[in-house]
Amino acid sequence: MKVLVIEDEKKVASFIKRGLEEEKFEVQTALDGEEGLSMALTNNYGLIILDWMLPKRDGINILKELRAQKHITPVLMLTAKNSVEDIVTGLETGSDDYLVKPFAFSELLARVRALIRRSEMDRGAELRFADLKIDPVTHKVWRNEEEIDLTAKEYGLLEYFMRNPNQVLTRNMIADHVWDYTFDSFTNIIDVYVNYLRKKIDKGAPSKLIHTVRGVGYILKEEN
Ligand code: CA
Repeated sequence: MKVLVIEDEKKVASFIKRGLEEEKFEVQTALDGEEGLSMALTNNYGLIILDWMLPKRDGINILKELRAQKHITPVLMLTAKNSVEDIVTGLETGSDDYLVKPFAFSELLARVRALIRRSEMDRGAELRFADLKIDPVTHKVWRNEEEIDLTAKEYGLLEYFMRNPNQVLTRNMIADHVWDYTFDSFTNIIDVYVNYLRKKIDKGAPSKLIHTVRGVGYILKEEN
């Protein structure tokens, strides 16, 4: 599981990174708000630990941007502010939990684990996008209530699209998440699989859902 830590205090950032790495998490850090936001938008993290007070862009601003762009990654806010209003602002903006500094690592770890468990439970629930529906437990797929038969790879690809709707997914991101490794950049296997999937999902449907973003990758979205 990949975790992003956006924290400008180097000591705190490396304390969290070291601790989580010992617990077998893969951790990346950003030391300011702009870098953090761009990393959050271009990678797929299982969790983001977000400091409130940051240079360039503060935590609330980042959180708003992530939620506006439909990123559902769980966010744990870190804050030195412990007034009730601040905490409420954070939660209303879309933070999933918060932790007041200073904190013990064991407390952080407990919160991290609880958030991941919760989001994994959500992952078990059916996902819907437009008239498309998938069941992550049985791997069944329906479009407009009609069941569609996919291969395991096609299903994996579709689930990745469904978990990241309205976001451009590059070929590298797809390779990384669906195949767990990066292909040689000249191979067209991703395009081949996206075309298989497209034939099954979009063929005969009144509107297309999987679109090509020329020179970049693909996006799951409704046609305007
Ligand atoms: Ca700070």
